[in-house]
Amino acid sequence: QISEAEVALFSVSSYACQRRTTLDNHNSNLTDALSLLAENAELNNEDGRGVAFRRAAALLKALPTQVISMSQLRGLPCLGEHSLRVIKDVLENGVSSEVESTKQSKRYKALKILTGIFGVGAKTADRWIRAGIYNLEQLRHSGQTLNRAQKAGLEHYDDLNEPVTKAEADAIGEIVQKAVDSVLTGSQVALSGGFRRGKLTGHDVDFLITHPEEGKEVGLMPKVVAWLESQGFLLYQKTTRNSYLESKDGPARPASNMDRFERCFSIFKLTKGKEQENTDQQLRELSKNYQMEAASHKIWRAVRVDLVVSPISQFAFAVLGWTGSKLFERELRRWAGHEKNMSLSSHALFDNTQNKYLRATSEEEIFAYLGLEYIPPSERNA
Ligand code: ATP
Ligand code: MN
Ligand code: MN
Repeated sequence: QISEAEVALFSVSSYACQRRTTLDNHNSNLTDALSLLAENAELNNEDGRGVAFRRAAALLKALPTQVISMSQLRGLPCLGEHSLRVIKDVLENGVSSEVESTKQSKRYKALKILTGIFGVGAKTADRWIRAGIYNLEQLRHSGQTLNRAQKAGLEHYDDLNEPVTKAEADAIGEIVQKAVDSVLTGSQVALSGGFRRGKLTGHDVDFLITHPEEGKEVGLMPKVVAWLESQGFLLYQKTTRNSYLESKDGPARPASNMDRFERCFSIFKLTKGKEQENTDQQLRELSKNYQMEAASHKIWRAVRVDLVVSPISQFAFAVLGWTGSKLFERELRRWAGHEKNMSLSSHALFDNTQNKYLRATSEEEIFAYLGLEYIPPSERNA
């Protein structure tokens, strides 16, 4: 017998950028399953499948109540045949057999471990698995050549796989602010990425840097990096220059989703705060294990940090593009292209109908150009 509440139909927009998606989610049993299958698809370079699962998960994240019966899903967008099959399995059996067998599979486990190394993507992991490498021990003894990023990633593996807390993000924010203040007065630092969306932890910390006077930001990154390096804050860094070409009548048309800002992928050496020191103290007292004791004496930890420098004229687009979530960004660009005949990137918005760039100084203006209701960062957790 199905109650009235169970058949109540949800009405949900088909683009994630039309929806308000907060961090709380009434269907995590379903979205966890679909997210794992999305992740597995991405780890196997099946991007189309990955996006389909991500869209389905995002749709369920936006529902106002828990789904308990398939009939509630009637008429909803974004739910493909495969996703519906997974949802049905979870609703009927509590778990998805596909998710369970994926989690158990040797290949999935190896892909997770190997791509957990900073600098290792799905393609490299696949190559290593085909060479019989399934874990870090095997990799260390394999004689495979690692690049500089991967060496750093392997060295700081445990730290980098430990979620970054908001307190740590704030501590790093203070360091970055101090760095930019020291090299160019008036520079501004803005927290972006997951922490701007209100997440309590992240896999890294993302910052945007700009200066209110256009042009002053040119060459800023190498100076910031040099300062950080001189103060001993960096364990690893790779800086890439701005490759965004200005043409006669404005910036070049965005060619891909990758932006071309001056940027730095880094690993910070963050000294542990009071709270963690206390925890360490307790750990030392409790620990009889030598290894654990040695680790607990470490007074710093490695944290992944992304730094991006944007000219002030592109700053609103950069902030929007770097706040995420990744699916929300993808959906914004899809909306712009398919519904508005516009091209959106982290640098600019181009109107293909009017054949011109649309200038903006705030995220609100960009949503308005796109004909979308403004969605604040805390509701972009698609
Ligand atoms: P997490 O807490 O796991 O770090 P996150 O949402 O901050 O989650 P990131 O991978 O740090 O995820 O990405 C943050 C934002 O920056 C995303 O919106 C993403 O689109 C954007 N971004 C990341 N890498 C690039 C890149 N190479 N080029 C352009 N944009 C990027
Ligand atoms: Mn991030
Ligand atoms: Mn990042």
